[in-house]
Amino acid sequence: MNSGDLLIRGGRILDPGRNFDIEGDVLIRNGKVEAIAPSLPSMESEGVEIDARSLVVTPGWIDIHTHLREPGETHKETIRTGSLAAAAGGFTTIACMANTNPVNDNSYITTYIYQKVTSESLINIHAIGAISKGLNGEELAEIGLMWEAGIVGISDDGKSVMNSYLMRKAMDYSKRFDLVVISHCEDSCLKGKGVMNEGFNSARFGLRGIPKASEELIVARDILLSELTGARLHIAHVSTKGSVGLIRDAKKKGIRVTAEATPHHLTLTDDVVGNYDTNTKVAPPLREQEDVDALIEGLSDGTIDALASDHAPHSVEEKEVEYDQAAFGMVGLETAFPLYYRLISDRGVSLNRVISAMTIRPAEIIGIPKGTLRVGNEADVTIFDPNLTYKLDKAQFRSKSINTPFHGTDVRGKVRYTIVRGKIVFDSQMGVRGTNE
Ligand SMILES: [Zn+2]
Repeated sequence: MNSGDLLIRGGRILDPGRNFDIEGDVLIRNGKVEAIAPSLPSMESEGVEIDARSLVVTPGWIDIHTHLREPGETHKETIRTGSLAAAAGGFTTIACMANTNPVNDNSYITTYIYQKVTSESLINIHAIGAISKGLNGEELAEIGLMWEAGIVGISDDGKSVMNSYLMRKAMDYSKRFDLVVISHCEDSCLKGKGVMNEGFNSARFGLRGIPKASEELIVARDILLSELTGARLHIAHVSTKGSVGLIRDAKKKGIRVTAEATPHHLTLTDDVVGNYDTNTKVAPPLREQEDVDALIEGLSDGTIDALASDHAPHSVEEKEVEYDQAAFGMVGLETAFPLYYRLISDRGVSLNRVISAMTIRPAEIIGIPKGTLRVGNEADVTIFDPNLTYKLDKAQFRSKSINTPFHGTDVRGKVRYTIVRGKIVFDSQMGVRGTNE
């Protein structure tokens, strides 16, 4: 071993991207994966050795749906604090949405974000550009110039592009760069002033409802537009049984559609809105048990390709108001994994499928050469303890925001180490490394 080498010894190495699942060692040298084998020679003097016995070693996790609030709302989150939260959550790569202030709809903002990432982030962060200027849904953003500046997808996430003609133009244009078009599917007219799922519970709780059809209309439209244009479509945060069915059918027809689901839509129903905790207010809203069951089935059979947190930090002021007035969204980077793990321990989804949905599949969707532990690749690795039980605690968050309904929840499965290009950026027994914190 040389100085700077890292030897991960004796873990279960699980890499769905290569159908790889063995007990063994991983050697990292110069930031790259140098060797993977059942048994590698022990280090002699220099370098760091991690004892991974009873731990699981996977390719670094990838979350393609986060909101980092910089530029513009740095009191909620910054690229720096978002990267700390991501590292603590086991994520080595994330993509951040364009609904900053100003909006990431031109190459100057894209370049600004990447400069900040280079100087301040512990992990890999990719920018997603807007579809329309100012997210106004009227005129295309500077997609080509943003692509040159490094965006990995386009999205007006936060709202739907309601103008079908503009969406078609965006899809046509995206093909020149093979950029994925990420759709936030909610018909804004049908959603109206709704704040939770429309159904039995909205009547019971006296809150305005958002029908499932508001999502399914746009899912159906965008699938049709993808079929028309041949563009790559990705459906963000799928929340209804109907949407899962539409996506499954589209895939069978060979349409180029992928989809993601969030930890909260996979684990909560709108029953929890009954306590009027504004941290349960999200867009799209929490749905019903049959929807949760359909999402889990969709994840198991691959209809839902990826898992994504939709990490959406908000200030206390925006959440400590009446349910009707509160902002939509919850933080997710630091609570995502143990919630995903519940799908394995409680709902019978395979570990392999969950890790695939956190590694190789999201990498393929945004088109980055990550998500697998091939020798020679950059050594992004996440190591977790599948047996550790604990309580989620917002006081421990690295994120600037604490808007979560999961505080105090008993969970199992904990990130032990997060490694980016061979460097340990999070060690659960040491805190976040490489920082002044
Ligand atoms: Zn969204």
